[in-house]
Amino acid sequence: MKLTEAVLATLKIPKTVNRKPDNESSLFMDYNFFMEKALERARKALYSGEFPVGCVIVYENKIIVTGSRIGTTGNFINEIDHAELVALKRLAELKENVDRSKIILFSTLEPCLMCYSATLINGIGKIVYAYEDVMGGCTRCNLTKLSPFYTERQIKVVPDILRNKSLELFKVYFENQKNTYWKGSLLSQYTLRQ
Ligand SMILES: [Zn+2]
Repeated sequence: MKLTEAVLATLKIPKTVNRKPDNESSLFMDYNFFMEKALERARKALYSGEFPVGCVIVYENKIIVTGSRIGTTGNFINEIDHAELVALKRLAELKENVDRSKIILFSTLEPCLMCYSATLINGIGKIVYAYEDVMGGCTRCNLTKLSPFYTERQIKVVPDILRNKSLELFKVYFENQKNTYWKGSLLSQYTLRQ
């Protein structure tokens, strides 16, 4: 059994769609509305031949910046321009003083280690994501094992918002033989068997 197959065998595909959001915010905010906007960005990436990830950053119930994945086509793949980092860069460029602990970052894919830590270091209060990244997702990492800078930071994470809509985009992406980014990967196999 290859390593990927062994890992796949241990992964359970969640039966629930849209786990109930945390009570605190669901009273005031429509997660689905903002995730739909992030999905629009993901579709834009998909139509450009890019990996279909979209992100919107929300402050006081308004989208203040957006981002979508770039750099996944051609011979030179870049692992910097993830949708979340594109949006966080635009947030920095706004040069506005906002209470970052009240910012919510919506992403159509669970953030990787790089994007999760960038979100954390930027003091963002909450991450809401659609589809779990079983290969590189990092929102369950144990901050208490890290140095004080990280253990003292708090970030809330809400998974599974419009999960299946995001999943469908990844299916379209991975089913297209022209797309080579993460072709045959654990994420690709996990996605295509659903
Ligand atoms: Zn990332």
